[in-house]
Formats: sequence, C-alpha cells, structure tokens
Amino acid sequence: MDSSVRNLRVAILSSPGMGHLIPVVVLANRLAAHHNVRVTVLQVTTAVSPPESKLLDLPLHKDLVQIIQLPPVDISHLVGPSTQVVTQLCLMVREAVPVVRSAIAAMESRPDALFVDHFGTDALPIAAELNIAKYVYVPTTAWFTALTVYCPVLDQEIEGEYVDQLEDLRIPGCKPVRPEDVVDPMLDRNDQQYDEYVRMGKQIPLSDGILFNSWEDLESKTIQALRENQALRSVVNIPVYPVGPLRRPVEPAGPTSEWISWLDRQPNESVLFVSFGSGGMLSAEQITELAWGLELSCQRFIWVVRPPTRGRVDDAFFNVGNSSDGTPNYLPEGFSTRTRDVGLLVSMWAPQIEILSHSAVGGFLSHCGWNSTLESITNGVPMIAWPLYAEQRLNATFLVEEAGVAVRPRELPTKQVVGREEIERLVRSIIEHKEGQGMRDKAKQLKMSAEDGLGRAGSSYKSMCEILSKIG
Ligand code: UDP
Repeated sequence: MDSSVRNLRVAILSSPGMGHLIPVVVLANRLAAHHNVRVTVLQVTTAVSPPESKLLDLPLHKDLVQIIQLPPVDISHLVGPSTQVVTQLCLMVREAVPVVRSAIAAMESRPDALFVDHFGTDALPIAAELNIAKYVYVPTTAWFTALTVYCPVLDQEIEGEYVDQLEDLRIPGCKPVRPEDVVDPMLDRNDQQYDEYVRMGKQIPLSDGILFNSWEDLESKTIQALRENQALRSVVNIPVYPVGPLRRPVEPAGPTSEWISWLDRQPNESVLFVSFGSGGMLSAEQITELAWGLELSCQRFIWVVRPPTRGRVDDAFFNVGNSSDGTPNYLPEGFSTRTRDVGLLVSMWAPQIEILSHSAVGGFLSHCGWNSTLESITNGVPMIAWPLYAEQRLNATFLVEEAGVAVRPRELPTKQVVGREEIERLVRSIIEHKEGQGMRDKAKQLKMSAEDGLGRAGSSYKSMCEILSKIG
C-alpha cells in the first residue's frame, strides 16, 4: 500500500452500460486496494440504459469504493432510430453533466480529482470549476488513444472516407492504421458519431493526463511516441500513463459447474474457447460455417452460442428451439450428437475469465474486445482474432502484427463470411500446430510481463503512484 497518498479521494465518471462500468470499477478497486484511495464511481444512467441489476454482482473493495447511480437522463428528444452508439453515449453524458455536478456537490467531502472515461470528456469542465485534477481513463490501448487524439488532424488532412483510402493512415511515431481497421465512428464521416469522435479527440488533451489499460512492454513504441514524438505531442501535450492490465479477478467456480468438470477431463491446452463478448452476434450463415469449421477441425471446444443476428428476431434471446439431440435449431442438424465427445455448448453467457484461466484451454476465438483480449493474454492463451465492431479491428491487427499472439482470417469477418475450411485451418493452427505453440509461448511471456508491470516495482504500479502524487 502506498502510504504517501493516504486519504486521497477520487470520483470516477462511468458512461452508461455494464461494458463501460466494469473497467471503471476494476480501476476503482485497484486504486483502493493498492493505493488506499477512496473512490466514488458515478454511473450515468438513462431510461434506455436503466440502473443495472447486475451491479450487485460486481465485487467492490468494501471499505473504499462506492457506486452512485445517477438519476436517469432523457435523450429521447435528441435521438432517432438511426442514432449510432457513440453519439448516444456522448449525448447521455452531456445531458448528465448537471446531475454529475450535483452528485459531486453532495459528496461528504470534495474529491481530489475527477476521472472520466473517454465518452465522458464533456464532464471535464466540472473539475475545472472545482479546481481539482482531471484525468481521462481510456480502458483500451495506447494505439486507440493515439488514433483518437490524432483524428482531428486526419480530419483536416484526409479527403473522402477513411475506408476508401489507398494508403494506411499515418499517426506520427505509431504503427499506421489500415483503412479497413478504423474504429466504428470513423467508418462514415457524414454520421454524427464521427463528429462526436473528433470532439472527443480534441477534448481528451484538455485533461491533466490520460490513463489507458495497457502496459509499457506491450505497447512500448506507441507509448514512447505519445510521450516524445514532436508531431504527436503537438496535439496531446499531457502525460500518458499505462496502468494495466486491469481486469476482473477470477471468481472461484462452484464445484458443480458443468463446464469445470468437463474442462477437468480434457488434456492440457487442448480446448478452444469460442465467444464474442457481451453482445457479439453472427449471421445465420456465419454460425453455420463456424459450426462446420469446428467440427471439421476435430479439436475440443467450448462455444458460447447465441442465435443469429438475422431471422428469428422474436426468439433472439429466449425460446430458441432445440432439435431432438439438444442442438439449438440455428446450428446444423445433429451438431451436438456429432461433437458430443469434443465439444460443449453454453447458451448466451459463460464465466469467461474462469474458463480462460483453466489449464485445459489452449486457444480463444474472440471478437477482440479489449477486456477479452486482456483476459486471454493474462492467462497465456493465444487467439483467433475475429473482430466485429467498435475498436476491435484495431485490436485484432495489433494482436497479429505487433504482439504476435493471434492468427486471423484472410478477410475481415465483417466484410465476408469466413468459410468452414478456413476456420478449420485456423483452429488447427492454434491448437494443434507449432505455430500455435509459438504464439502460446509469446502469450505466456506477455502474461509474465503484465504481472511484473502491476507489481510494486512495475511500470503500471509506478504510473499510478505518479498520478496520485500529482493529485495529492
Ligand atoms: N463475458 C463473460 N461471459 C460471456 C461473454 C462476455 O464473462 O459469455 C465478459 C468477458 O469476460 C469480458 C466482457 O464480458 O470481461 C466483455 O468485454 P469485452 O471488452 O471483451 O467486449 P464487449 O462485450 O465490450 O464487446
């Protein structure tokens, strides 16, 4: 525990939704448990994203962390059916600024700093009003952070859609971004969410510093560019702090969990875990190809299955029928019977961190959400990168080309259906072949460097101490 920063108090603003709340709570717990900071998490809620009942499941540092769910804000008059996610999130936070201000005013004592996630930059002026420190927490990579703060420059330099560019997008000192890998809000420059994203890129550098959920060893080149590259510094002239990898802890599995007794019976590093995050869904055609690909590979798997995005809308979450052998009717007939000895299907949701930490798991076919990515790397598990939305294409390219811990389909799965033969090849390469073993070794090295980074002598730990010494 860092005694030099005893008694500090920080408020962290989380944008709506569990996907944004979880990384904020993980950060809050870390600040409390390792740095003795008292943290109040302020969560923005709306009528469409009501206070979360799942909140009760989030383990909180019991003495020092509290979550306050702010009164819901109404953005119905500002949005239409085609309003995109980033626009909605930014509007929700913008509308919530008065209730954030009131909530902070009502706190027992004034916080020493306000942290916001990257959708919350509109709340930064509250910190200025109170004359307290203000930081932005980007719960993903340094590379995403660099792209975001440099986007206002790209906006001036580049004409036409980014996805139509013939050359990669250059960010000074950083790995260039392939046009097809741009984040969702950069896909259509005429959509309001692009304007919101550019605005975010301009507002982040108005804070006192940026925290991101990565670590020095993982992204040394990008972090160095953010610190030293003159051209990049001209847009983001504030300190940057890699404080990760921050992730939820492993919860002990119940003795009767079906998946754990199944995994216990499988050989070491032999099972592929297949899951697409909290909301990722595939088309009916893609699900069929994935099922056949898994079956053809003859490898062991646990697959978190969900109904397809198209068709059966009424059944989307419930009442999906099964055929007589228990195969959900959106999978090829008889799939469960034919794969009975090697596969386990889990419907909708599985305890992902617990599964990835089991010694039988040898690979992860993942949508490359950053939480899933960290959960995989910190368990030394290599990946098949299958990006779907948000910044996942960027993450996938990073994992394949920089970190060397993933393989991927030849074409982006968002561009074309990945066929069964290619899936078979990818699965075999990660579980069965030498290539997979090499990536597993690399992932294990990263796991160790992650642990070092978080340890008392580590760079992520020191980053956090540095921030707190500036606040205190
Ligand atoms: N998750 C889980 N079980 C599931 C699906 C997801 O526990 O069946 C968790 C996963 O461990 C991760 C989070 O949900 O912590 C998903 O976050 P990520 O950033 O990977 O993707 P997102 O859902 O935000 O796209």
